[in-house]
Amino acid sequence: MFDLPDFDAHEGVHAFHDQDSGLRCIIAIHSTALGPSAGGTRMWNYSSGAEMVTDALRLSQGMSYKNAMAGIPHGGGKAVIWGNSKTDKSEAMFLALGRAVESLQGRYYTAEDVGIDTADIEIAARETKYAAGLTFGAAASGDPSPVTGKGVFLGIKQASLRAFGTDDLSGRTVAVQGVGSVGGYACQHLADAGAKLVICDMDQEALTRVAARCDAKIVGIDEIYDVEADVFSPNALGAVINPDTLKRLKVKVIAGGANNQLATPEMGELVRQSGIIYAPDYVINGGGIINVASEISGAYSKTWVYDKLATLMDTLGEVLDVSLSQGKPTNVVADEIAMARIAAGPQEAH
Ligand code: NAD
Repeated sequence: MFDLPDFDAHEGVHAFHDQDSGLRCIIAIHSTALGPSAGGTRMWNYSSGAEMVTDALRLSQGMSYKNAMAGIPHGGGKAVIWGNSKTDKSEAMFLALGRAVESLQGRYYTAEDVGIDTADIEIAARETKYAAGLTFGAAASGDPSPVTGKGVFLGIKQASLRAFGTDDLSGRTVAVQGVGSVGGYACQHLADAGAKLVICDMDQEALTRVAARCDAKIVGIDEIYDVEADVFSPNALGAVINPDTLKRLKVKVIAGGANNQLATPEMGELVRQSGIIYAPDYVINGGGIINVASEISGAYSKTWVYDKLATLMDTLGEVLDVSLSQGKPTNVVADEIAMARIAAGPQEAH
């Protein structure tokens, strides 16, 4: 463990096995310096236990950075379950997950992530107090996507201010990749602000709905990179910013809600050199975790959530300004600010 390249002084890496349900789960707690760790549970059919450990280590570190930037009183943690999310789930498995989370006595809060839905976490919540993203309970926060989508819209404004000298989006063309939950909400805000939208998705129903509501033009999935636009907003998959797509993009801003947009961290510098302003994914998409944090606090408050979102957008502006003034890629600047906040301790989180 201690020799693994992705081990970054994690506070705890806990492996759980449940004989009856077959649960194989790792809960990695990267840091509790800013408060109890928080991050979703991912279910994935890993090819090996080593791959699973690496994923848990990376994702939990990523949550430390994301939570620090979001200014919420939480450190970073993540649970990963080894299995096929379509065929291997059972009630017993999620009850066992709940017991595993409970055994950490509040050092880790869980919620949904890839392969896991609200119903799974609600089963786990029968065994643990440390689960969020629920539809029941006094502080239930529900779907985080509206907050994430609003953050994407506000983040596009922050980046546009730096790229074009104004954050007025009327008449700007935004190419939106993926118009599901987050992309759909972002499109609505963009259309309301007068932006022209060009959208793509493989889900015909989502496409038709958003196109009708936002007067958007539809293009094919692979054509989105070639659109003559001011802004590219990825809201579907990871690794969409790679050397091939970067060559094709004609935009001045990349700002969207998808996780892990850069194929490699080095892409951040290549994007900067090509004169494009990139809003780091884990900063611009922090609205969802802010929403979950409000639920964890025990008293959900929409006002608190949107105040925190506004502060997060100021932080995004700071990242972009430092990047421009120091000639450093935005993803590197964001990591540096996050690490400084974690090192400084809780006062920075409020
Ligand atoms: P979603 O499933 O509702 O929407 C994703 C959409 O992308 C779907 O409509 C899907 O058909 C489409 N899509 C898939 N592959 C595509 C492709 N190749 N080209 C174009 N469209 C494609 O998911 P979501 O909740 O909107 O999340 C979108 C992204 O944002 C994900 O990367 C997610 O991890 C990230 N994210 C979401 C939240 C949140 O609050 N929901 C918070 C933080 C980050």
